[in-house]
Amino acid sequence: MSKKIQNKTNIYSFFNCIEKNFDKATRFIPIEKGLLEQIKECNSVYRMNFPVKIGKQIKVIEAYRVQHSHHKLPCKGGIRYSMKVTQDEIMTLSALMTYKCAIADVPFGGAKGGIKIDPQTMSEENIEKITRRYTSELIKKNFIGPGIDVPAPDYGTGEREMSWIFDTFLSLRPSDVDALACVTGKPVSQGGLRGRKEATGLGVFYGIRELCKMKEEMDSIGLEVGIIGKKVIIQGLGNVGYHTANFFYEAGAIIVALAEREGAIYNKNGLDVSQVILHLKNTGSILNFPKAKNIKNTESALELECDILIPAALENVIHINNANRIKAKIIGEAANGPITPEADEILEKKGIIIVPDIYLNAGGVTVSYFEWLKNLSHVRYGRMEKRFNENMNARLLQVVETICNKKISKKEKKIILRGAREIDLVRSGLEDTMINGFHKIINLKKSSNIENMRTAAFLLAINKIIDSYEKLGIFP
Ligand code: NAD
Repeated sequence: MSKKIQNKTNIYSFFNCIEKNFDKATRFIPIEKGLLEQIKECNSVYRMNFPVKIGKQIKVIEAYRVQHSHHKLPCKGGIRYSMKVTQDEIMTLSALMTYKCAIADVPFGGAKGGIKIDPQTMSEENIEKITRRYTSELIKKNFIGPGIDVPAPDYGTGEREMSWIFDTFLSLRPSDVDALACVTGKPVSQGGLRGRKEATGLGVFYGIRELCKMKEEMDSIGLEVGIIGKKVIIQGLGNVGYHTANFFYEAGAIIVALAEREGAIYNKNGLDVSQVILHLKNTGSILNFPKAKNIKNTESALELECDILIPAALENVIHINNANRIKAKIIGEAANGPITPEADEILEKKGIIIVPDIYLNAGGVTVSYFEWLKNLSHVRYGRMEKRFNENMNARLLQVVETICNKKISKKEKKIILRGAREIDLVRSGLEDTMINGFHKIINLKKSSNIENMRTAAFLLAINKIIDSYEKLGIFP
């Protein structure tokens, strides 16, 4: 997989890009080269072609499932629907999943799936047919199952596709009591988890918020501490981009530009994210949003003046040809692989802080882990302890009122008495994971004198994977 694939923006194949980042980090690891090769390579690549009847014609569909690492099982990773799907892309995304799971401390090996279709131009009926056939192909080859490999949503897929996958799996494995755990990102009504849909975007927000709390880092790029008032640009208003934009907006950031396929919109005083989404639903486009300027060339939105730039669409959008024109002080990689290695070097020289994908967009897999656990335990989070905690809190308040001889207001009581609901626990677990991950990376960066967060994140992930191999007794 070391062959270079040349195109006008990137001289490396996508998988080469990850290999480069991996190699930078392994300078700091004094172990045998062969062992590092084992971690780097993809363990299983399943490429399939299957026929599906679309209208009156039979179409042959190209699809993939790649399991990058079996050091922990099950494997875990999303499924992408896009005409740009290739084996190289899915292998790369599956490798990123391995490192991401290690950083987020979730017990999975990395995987990824993809089907080469454009869901935007297909009927729901045909997408369902293809999804169900893809699932049965995975079952045939033992590439899906609660303890084997657990897919989730990614670019071009969502709850709807996950519920078809679950239903197909259940119909072919009706006696599997853990069948619900064969896929995550399902609708709540079908074993999904409250908080999964927005988890990646919320994780992106928590990660950047943590960086913006650090005075030393903010001083180095000439920004004030905190999120309030920071100028933000987001590319891609799908699952990840939309929720990221919303969390930044609610926290007081100024969303100066939003970019979609058809173009971008800009307002230096800020865009109201929910109004933009309403406008998109009503008109089918973000363009012509009241009081905003249209930008026809959507890529050029990345080059506008801002503090924080968040690519949340696809890979390789910041490359050798536009990196020099990027004006942001922080880039948060919500998408997977949005920066090519050549661009990475240019941005680093410009002093831009890059918060890497293998950490920043791990919120999705973290909450997928919670969903998987819920499905395996067959009980909703909070069900056992919510009422008990509320009763205990009520008793505690009575004692406080008696001792202090003071009545606590009804409003305050309502806040203090409430036991944790599923969504509270999920968000608390996500916040904890993102804060811990951030500080582990920053501390490693400082203690090992590493030049950037990406290399430190890779080093953290690789060290953890080596640890698991050692525990398994595979590595000497
Ligand atoms: P999505 O399909 O929900 O949304 C992607 C959005 O990007 C769409 O609205 C699409 O129109 C837009 N887009 C496509 N090309 C564009 C362009 N050239 N310029 C601007 N916008 C463009 O996908 P998603 O789930 O939000 O995934 C986005 C990225 O985040 C991908 O890289 C994915 O791998 C990564 N990611 C997703 C998750 C998740 O939980 N969904 C988790 C981790 C990482």
